[in-house]
Amino acid sequence: AKREGRGNFQFFSPAMNAAAHEHLLLESRMWNTLEREAFEVHLQAQVELATGRVIGAELLLRWHDDELGTVEPSRFIPIAEESGLILPLGDWVLARAMQLLAEWQANGLGALRLAVNLSARQVAGEALLERLDALLAQHRIDPSRLELEITETAAMRDPETTRALLRQLRDRGFKLAIDDFGTGYSSLAYLKLFSIDRIKIDRGFVQDIETNPNDAVIVAATIALAHSLGLTVVAEGVETEAQYGFLRDKRGDEAQGFLFARPMPVPEFAEFIRTRAQP
Ligand code: C2E
Ligand code: CA
Ligand code: CA
Ligand code: CA
Repeated sequence: AKREGRGNFQFFSPAMNAAAHEHLLLESRMWNTLEREAFEVHLQAQVELATGRVIGAELLLRWHDDELGTVEPSRFIPIAEESGLILPLGDWVLARAMQLLAEWQANGLGALRLAVNLSARQVAGEALLERLDALLAQHRIDPSRLELEITETAAMRDPETTRALLRQLRDRGFKLAIDDFGTGYSSLAYLKLFSIDRIKIDRGFVQDIETNPNDAVIVAATIALAHSLGLTVVAEGVETEAQYGFLRDKRGDEAQGFLFARPMPVPEFAEFIRTRAQP
């Protein structure tokens, strides 16, 4: 039990101990994996709704550890975030993304856009711009092919700092997207505060489009609102033809989800792009 109050000791239950232990174990295995550059990335296609064409991909981290097995991002990202490991890991992800874009450019796939996730810590720190500048100098890619995804929660921790950073990122030519749109407490404030390019409608709204009239209304209204602000909309987590049809009817711009493609290893993605019949 954990007791509070002045002069009291705090001690922890076995369950809390186990959680702390797991946390430490994951953290040390993550450092090990990072040092060996043994994290992997998968790519999930993004599709233009009107034509079905693949217009880009989101880069998603994957971790298979020899001792722990496969660990889901939802489990290791929060720990990486809390421990600060997300900063070097995020740098590695950005470098990997630039490398991929350079490869695409060299292989006739220069029109594809690549989206990467930024964590709250990366957005809060000073190092991000320098890091991106260094990578741009190294890889000579077109910055408008790289899209940086930021969640509302990450951005709203320190709105003024984020605002300044996002402006500088946009000056560089990078694209900016709000991830998980609608799940934070300040979605509309975000639109007013920050200059961004795209909104990613959270999967939670998309999955219930057919069954929950409120979600259908929210998704349709979000698309209309985004368009009237000059933003494009990506719908996340599209799994059914009915969801696809709804989004197309409502003039959504793009979609991502298992209906089109699961996240896949990089070589498979290249193959997917090559063999997919382009309508
Ligand atoms: P996210 O950014 O919202 O990424 C989308 C998640 O939805 C991915 O989960 C993807 O596999 C999953 N997904 C895509 N389409 C569908 C669908 O049709 N149905 C369902 N049920 N799920 C779908 P994943 O790869 O497990 O990643 C989870 C979260 O981990 C991401 O959510 C993101 O917040 C975080 N993450 C992943 N990679 C990175 C990274 O490189 N950096 C940071 N900071 N976070 C990352
Ligand atoms: Ca994302
Ligand atoms: Ca998302
Ligand atoms: Ca998410």
